[in-house]
Amino acid sequence: MIRPLLLVFIAASVSACSRPPEKQIVADAASALGGQSRILAVKTLVIDGEGTNGNLGQDMTMDAASQQFVVSGYKRSVDVVNLRARTEQTRTPNFAYFQGPQAQKQVLGIDGDVGYNIAPNGNATRVPNAVAKDRRAEIYHHPIKIVRAALDPEAKLENPRTAGNERVVDVTTSNGLKFTLATDAATNLPTRVVSMTDNTNLGDVAIETSFADYEDVGGLKLPKRLTTKTDKYQTAEIRVTRQAIDGETGDLTAPPAAASAPAIAAPPPATVTAEELAKGIWFLGGQSHHSVLVEFADHLTLIEAPQNDTRALAVIAKAKSLRPEKPLTQVINTHHHFDHSGGIRAAVAEGLTVITHKANAAFYQDAVARPHTIVPDALAKAPKPLTVTPVDEELELKDGTMTVNVYHVAGNPHADTMLMAHFPKEKILVEVDAYSPGSAVQPYAANLKENISRRGLKVDRVVPLHGTIVPYSELLKIQ
Ligand SMILES: [Zn+2]
Ligand SMILES: [Zn+2]
Repeated sequence: MIRPLLLVFIAASVSACSRPPEKQIVADAASALGGQSRILAVKTLVIDGEGTNGNLGQDMTMDAASQQFVVSGYKRSVDVVNLRARTEQTRTPNFAYFQGPQAQKQVLGIDGDVGYNIAPNGNATRVPNAVAKDRRAEIYHHPIKIVRAALDPEAKLENPRTAGNERVVDVTTSNGLKFTLATDAATNLPTRVVSMTDNTNLGDVAIETSFADYEDVGGLKLPKRLTTKTDKYQTAEIRVTRQAIDGETGDLTAPPAAASAPAIAAPPPATVTAEELAKGIWFLGGQSHHSVLVEFADHLTLIEAPQNDTRALAVIAKAKSLRPEKPLTQVINTHHHFDHSGGIRAAVAEGLTVITHKANAAFYQDAVARPHTIVPDALAKAPKPLTVTPVDEELELKDGTMTVNVYHVAGNPHADTMLMAHFPKEKILVEVDAYSPGSAVQPYAANLKENISRRGLKVDRVVPLHGTIVPYSELLKIQ
C-alpha cells in the first residue's frame, strides 16, 4: 500500500510545481500584482482621475481623432465581488458640440444585469441590455478583477501563447464571460484585457483596455494609466490621481427607478410616417431620424438610411409601399456619423447603391465587409457587395421629371463629409445636423447659410432630418 500512495504524492507535487502554461500565466500575474491571497481578499476599487474621451463615430471623418471630451472629476467605484460599478465624470468638449461648449456631468452605472444612467437632476434611467453587457464586461477590464476571475477554479483558461513581449491567455469566467488577458513577459504585470462585443456600425469589435505606470497601493500594484479602444479607435484615456483598495464606494446598487424598469432587449420598433412635400418628394418621418424619398421617372432614391436595421428597413419598406411599381435603387447618405450611417448595411442588403461623400467610400467598403457574427444583421444574413457613387463637391441627379442636386457642405464644423440635397424647382433643402430647428444651440448653422448663399441656392423650405420642417426664414434668423 505504501508505494501507490507515494506515487500519488509525487504526482501531486509535480503538478503543483509545474502548472499548465495557461495557469502559470495567471499565477505569475497574481504574484506580480501582490499575491493570490491579497487579490482574492479585495472587495472594492475606488479610482479617481482625469483624462479624455474620444468621439467614436462622430468625429470630422471616420479616421479623425481631433475631437475629444476633456474628462475631469473622474471617479470609478467598483464592487469586484458583487459586480457593481459606477463611473462619475465631467466631460467638456474641445470642439463645436451640438449640445454646446458647457461641461456635462455623467453618472454611468452597472449592477449585475441592470445598467443605468443618472441625469444631473437625479433621474435614473435603465440603459439598453447591449450597453449593460458592455459595462459588465468593463468591470473585468482591470488587472485585479481579471486576474481574480482567472484564479477562480470555475474559470476556463485556454490557448496560452507568447506574442511579442506579451504572454497571452484566453479566460472564460465562471459566469461565462470571455476575455483575453495579456501580461508583460518581463514583469508579469497585466498589460491588456480584450473582450469582443457588437457594434451596429462596426460589427464584431474588440474592446481593449491597456494598463501602464503601475504603482504600489495597499500591498498591490495598480495601473495609473488606463487606455481603452474600440477596434482601432481610442475611446478613453484615464490618468489616475488617487486610488484605493477597499475604499468607501457608497451604495452601488441600481437606483429603484432603473432596477424596476423593463429590460430593453432591442431597439424600439420603428414608426415611419409619409408626408408628400411636393410631387415626387416625401418626408419619411417619425421618431428621431427622418428620411426623404425622391421619385424619378423609372426609379426611386432615398435620402438617408439612419440608425440601424430596424429603422432603415422600415423606411425602405415605406418607400417601396408608396411607389411599388418603381425600384428603389439608391440611398444618399448625409454624413458618416454612426447614427446617420447605421442603416447603410441594411440599404446594401436591399441592393441600394450608396451615394456619399468621397471621404467615406473606404470606410463604407470596410463596414460592409466586416463580420457581424455576435449580432447578425440583414447584410450578415444575405451578404452583398457595396456599390458607391462618391460625391466630391456636387452631384446632379436629374431626369425628365425630377432634379436634385447633392452638395458638399464645405467647411462645416460638424463633419467634413457632410452633404445636403437641394431641389431647385421645389426650392426645398434637405440637411441634417448642420441646422436642427428648435435646438437651443446651433454651432453649425452659420456655415450652412454660407454654403447655401455661396452656391446661390433658392430655398423656401428647410427639411431637416432631425426635427420639423421650417421656412428658410427660420434658418436666416440664426446668428
Ligand atoms: Zn452628425
Ligand atoms: Zn444627427
